[in-house]
Amino acid sequence: MGDLLVVGSVALDSVKTPFGQVAEALGGSATYFSFAASFFTTVRVVAVVGEDFPGEHLHLLKTRGVDLSGLQVSKGKTFRWVGEYGYDLNEARTLDTQLNVFGNFRPVLPDALRKTPFVFLANIDPDLQLEVLRQMARPRLVALDTMNFWIEGKRQALLSVLAEVDALLVNDAETRQLAREPNLIKAARAILGFGPRTVVVKRGEYGALMISDSHFFFVPAYPLESVFDPTGAGDTFAGGFMGYLAKSEATDADAIRRAIVYGSVMASFTVEDFSLHRLARLKPEEIQRRYEAFQDLIRFEI
Ligand code: AMP
Repeated sequence: MGDLLVVGSVALDSVKTPFGQVAEALGGSATYFSFAASFFTTVRVVAVVGEDFPGEHLHLLKTRGVDLSGLQVSKGKTFRWVGEYGYDLNEARTLDTQLNVFGNFRPVLPDALRKTPFVFLANIDPDLQLEVLRQMARPRLVALDTMNFWIEGKRQALLSVLAEVDALLVNDAETRQLAREPNLIKAARAILGFGPRTVVVKRGEYGALMISDSHFFFVPAYPLESVFDPTGAGDTFAGGFMGYLAKSEATDADAIRRAIVYGSVMASFTVEDFSLHRLARLKPEEIQRRYEAFQDLIRFEI
C-alpha cells in the first residue's frame, strides 16, 4: 500500500443551495480529498489553518487516521469560501474567497513526508503546488486539480506546475478555459500537450471522462434522486481516484479506469449532504456496494 500526500485548502465554507444552507462549515479541497482517500490508504495533509479553526474539525480528520503533521496553525484567520448553486447544481457561483492565512503560507515539508510516492496537488495557489512538488523526492504519480480562480489569476504559474505532473483532474468548464478551446475533447487533448499524460474531466451529474494519448474512457455519474450540496464533489472524486491508485500501487490504464469509478463512487456520497456530513457517516461496505452497482450501470451485451 502506497502513502498519499495532499496540499490544498482547509477551509470554512458558507454554502447555499436550493435545498438548504450552511455557514462556516468544514470544507476545503485538502479536507474533502483526505477524508475520502482515508478509506483507501494513509493520507498526509500539507496546509495551513488559522487560530480560529475549530478543534472538532481536526478531531474528525484524526478519527480517519489522516496525518496532520504537515498542517500548520498560523496567527490569523482560516481560509474562507462563500458560494451558492442554483437548480443547475453543476455550476458553483463563488461569492467570496478570503485567502487569509494562505496569503503568507510557506509550506515546509517535514522530512518524513518528502518521500511519499503518490501526491495530489489539490485546488490552491499554483505557486504553493509547485513549492510542495519541489520538496518531494521523485514521487511515483503526481496529479493536480485547479479552478477558474487560478486559471484566470495565475495562468503562468499554473502552466509551470502542469508541465511537471502526470495527471490533471478538472471540471469541464475549467478544461475549456485552460485550453482556450470550446470543444471538450479537443480541449482535453490540447492539455495533454501542456505536460500531463492523463486528463480526467469531471462533468458533475454527467459523469467523468478520461483522455490519454492512447485511451479514452467514460463513466456516468451514479443516478441519485436527492442531491443536496455538490461542494467537494470534485475533491472527493480525486480522493477516491488517488486513494485507490495509492492503495493498489498501480498506475496502468486498467487501474486508472477502476480509480475513476472509485472517484465517482466517493463523489456520489459527498453530494448527498452538506459539508462532510455524509462522508462522516460513510461505511466501507457502502463504498464497495456502490462500486459494484457502477459495474451493473455500464454493463451491456453486444
Ligand atoms: P469542489 O470539489 O470543486 O466543489 O471544491 C470545493 C472546495 O474548494 C470548497 O470546500 C472550498 O473551500 C474550496 N475552494 C474554493 N475556492 C478555492 C480556491 N480559490 N482555492 C482553494 N480552495 C478553494
